[in-house]
Amino acid sequence: MSRPFNFSAGPAAIPEEVLQQAANEMLNWGNSGMGVMEMSHRGKEFISIYEAAEADLRELLAVPANFKILFMQGGGLAENAIVPLNLSKGGTADFVVTGSWSQKSFKEAAKYAHNHLAASGEASSYTSIPDAASWQLSSDAQYVHICSNETIHGVEYQELPDLKALGCDAPLVIDFSSNVASRPLDWSRVGLAFGGAQKNIGPAGLTIVIVREDLLGHALDICPSAFNYKTVADNNSMFNTPPTWGIYMAGLTFQWLKRQREGELTGVAAMEARNKAKADFFYDYLDHSQLYVNKVDKACRSRMNIPFFLRDESRNEAFLAAAKERGLLQLKGHKSVGGMRASIYNAMPMEGVRALVDFMQDFERTSA
Ligand SMILES: *Cc1c(COP(=O)(O)O)cnc(C)c1O
Repeated sequence: MSRPFNFSAGPAAIPEEVLQQAANEMLNWGNSGMGVMEMSHRGKEFISIYEAAEADLRELLAVPANFKILFMQGGGLAENAIVPLNLSKGGTADFVVTGSWSQKSFKEAAKYAHNHLAASGEASSYTSIPDAASWQLSSDAQYVHICSNETIHGVEYQELPDLKALGCDAPLVIDFSSNVASRPLDWSRVGLAFGGAQKNIGPAGLTIVIVREDLLGHALDICPSAFNYKTVADNNSMFNTPPTWGIYMAGLTFQWLKRQREGELTGVAAMEARNKAKADFFYDYLDHSQLYVNKVDKACRSRMNIPFFLRDESRNEAFLAAAKERGLLQLKGHKSVGGMRASIYNAMPMEGVRALVDFMQDFERTSA
């Protein structure tokens, strides 16, 4: 029996091979007689799982040696506080607000830093990203925060800003919750990247933080020890019990990613080619349709989350019901934006996007 295609924004679809392997190993991992959830995080079995996951992620994302990879908890929203607690030194933090998620980051950080809004996409209803040359960056910013892919509004940076070229020495912080591992990342432009796992990597409960070493050790005194990046780094993410199941599942996803091929390309580069093909195909269909529309500026359309609207919104409920009937799940848009949203992360194959477009054509035809 083949499974339906799941377009959830998060927690989102996980590759079937990964789920199958986890099921096979559920009661007895590697002949240890234990399931992963039952193991000591300090035992040799789990340490081997942790070390492989860390090494595979480092390889997949080409993370330089002077960056630490931390496996934490609390999700993206907790990082909205944890980042300023660690990086702001109580000084200024700059934000570029391009949708709901960077807006939330901006609001939360104000408890710990002097926030400055360097640029906002609000005037365009968050359908475009303000040109980096127009950003009003502070001369004393401790860091500059952006969200590399706005999961709700469907806008994505096609290239990360080069702060040095803009005359700014502050480290760039990116919330990459919803596009991590979907494309290669230029670490020369980044000081810290964080993301919850539940969009593109595994189950909810694991948060990935990748931070340049020189940014460790500056936390405010009020920073909880378990959220102090230096403490977490010094203890190899085992100051407190890490989310062991999430790390294991992420590790299986990393192995799956390493097996992916597109022509000559492997790993994240292969995913980028596949993600681009999927998104181009879907946007091209939307742009030529009479019934459906996407409102995002073509220069910053997300490859991961594609919001779209029926021109006749009275047909929304019928659309969702008919989609479900065809095995196309969780297409309802976020309540703050409305309409529909197709999230097509790494785990969504091209066949899923084709099945969605086939359905949408049929729906348009039968309801014309
Ligand atoms: C989902 C998401 C978050 C929130 O993650 P939580 O795990 O719910 O805290 C933050 N940022 C982005 C870009 C997201 O997509």
